[in-house]
Amino acid sequence: MLSHLATIIISVAVANACTSASSCCAVLCSSEYLVDKVSSENTTAYNDTIYSFWSGQARTDTPTCVVEPTAASDVAVDVAILAEYECQFSIKGGGHTPWARAASINDRVTINIAGLNSMSLNTNKSIAYLGSGSRWGPIYEYLESQGTMVSRGRASDIGIGGLVVGGGYSWFAP
Ligand SMILES: Cc1cc2nc3c(=O)[nH]c(=O)nc-3n(C[C@H](O)[C@H](O)[C@H](O)COP(=O)(O)OP(=O)(O)OC[C@H]3O[C@@H](n4cnc5c(N)ncnc54)[C@H](O)[C@@H]3O)c2cc1C
Repeated sequence: MLSHLATIIISVAVANACTSASSCCAVLCSSEYLVDKVSSENTTAYNDTIYSFWSGQARTDTPTCVVEPTAASDVAVDVAILAEYECQFSIKGGGHTPWARAASINDRVTINIAGLNSMSLNTNKSIAYLGSGSRWGPIYEYLESQGTMVSRGRASDIGIGGLVVGGGYSWFAP
């Protein structure tokens, strides 16, 4: 199934700015769904991701390329290709892990999910639907504008995914 999917996805060869010698990045670059979302070293998009890690340690990791999905379907394509070709990758949420190799990776692929930042509420505003790359500051601003709120991280730049799996303290935590 994955083999079939990857074959379809990479069948369109597209001229692009992806010039990486890494086979994993080259395969991502050849996907029509990802070609505009992959950046290589020494590009503005790549550097924007690397320098947005909170800790200096994480910034020392230099992936061969960075992928910036803008929809869940991009992530599905991305992970299907990386799994098919047995490529190692890291997921960068808000990038606040203090040490390297949690959300960063050297000589492999980093997926920066910051673009998955959609926010909405159900009709009675009891359930919020938050993109997995959202950060708490914008979430608080959105919820406040809707007359509701949630109690989570204290630093506004922390990612929603990382706090859920590795945090949990709010101003109101015991
Ligand atoms: C300055 C500072 C202030 C902090 N304040 C608080 C606080 O007030 N309350 C609190 O509870 N914690 C706090 N923390 C800790 C913080 O919640 C954790 O470090 C958290 O894991 C950071 O999440 P992130 O998405 O920003 O970081 P990342 O480093 O991007 O992600 C952390 C881990 O989660 C993974 N991950 C991220 N998003 C997803 C996702 N959507 N799906 C699957 N995996 C994902 C990453 O691959 C990585 O392994 C603070 C940390 C710092 C540096």
